[in-house]
Amino acid sequence: MKIVRYRDLSGNIGHAARQPDGKCLAIEGDLLGEFRETGREVEVDKLLVPLVPPCLLCIGLNYRRHAEETGARLSQYPVVFHKSANALQHPGDPIQLPRFLRSDEVDYECELAVVIGRRCKNVSRSEALNHVLGYSCGNDVSARDWQKKWGGGQWSRAKSFDTFAPFGPCLVTRDEIPDPNALGIKTLLNGELVQESNTSDMIFDVPALIEFLSGSTTLLPGTVIFTGTPEGVGMARTPPLWMKAGDTVSVEIEKIGTLTNPVEDEPSAADSV
Ligand code: ZN
Repeated sequence: MKIVRYRDLSGNIGHAARQPDGKCLAIEGDLLGEFRETGREVEVDKLLVPLVPPCLLCIGLNYRRHAEETGARLSQYPVVFHKSANALQHPGDPIQLPRFLRSDEVDYECELAVVIGRRCKNVSRSEALNHVLGYSCGNDVSARDWQKKWGGGQWSRAKSFDTFAPFGPCLVTRDEIPDPNALGIKTLLNGELVQESNTSDMIFDVPALIEFLSGSTTLLPGTVIFTGTPEGVGMARTPPLWMKAGDTVSVEIEKIGTLTNPVEDEPSAADSV
C-alpha cells in the first residue's frame, strides 16, 4: 500500500491509500496499530509528511562510495545522530536557507527513510524487518559550515535547522519492498542528476541498523531512520555545489516515488511563528 497523509480543501487531515490511477482512498484506524483502506475517495489538496515521528534518527557515512569521497575512515559501528522535529518539511514545501544564523553551504542528501511500526527493543537482525511499517524518501539537508566549522564536533545543529528534513511523499508498506537494500536512489538538482546509487552500497544494511539502533534502546512506534546518503553530495565536488534560492531539489527512490522541494531564503526573522 502507498500511504499518503494529506489535507483536504476543508482543512481536514487524514491518511489515504494512493491507487495506481492516482485516486486516494481514505484509511481508517491507526497507522501505528490496526488500519484499513476504505472505498471512500478523498480530495487531496496538499500532501503532508507521512507521519510526525517521535524521533528522527540518522546515520552518517553509511554508503561505501560516499565515505570514500569524504575521506572518512570506516567505523566499527554506525555513526548515529538526531535531527529534531522542527526540521520536518512537507513534500512540495520550501527548504529555507538559514539567513538569521547564516549558512552559505547548504547541501542535499538523498536518503532511504525507514519507518518503525511497532515499539521494539534489542531486535535481532533476522527479525528486524518485521518491525518496519514502511519506507519513504528523506532529504538530510545539511549546512556544511555549521557541520564542519562551527558545530563543536557534532552534526545535529547543522542538520536541524527549520525545513532541513523533507520527508515523503508517501509511505510504502514493507510488503511492497521485500528487500530495502536493492533500491535505486538519486538526487536531481534543477533537473540535473547529482547523486545516483543503490541502497545495496550501504555499509550497514537496514536490518543491521535496526538491530544496532534498538540495542538497549526502545524504538518508539513511528520512529523514522534516515539511513545515510550515497556519493555525489555538493560538499565533495570541485568546486563545491551549494543549494541556492530558486533551486528545486528532488529525491527519487525506486518503488517509492519522488520527494521534491523548492529552495528559498529564510524569511525575515520573527520571534514567534
Ligand atoms: Zn545524511
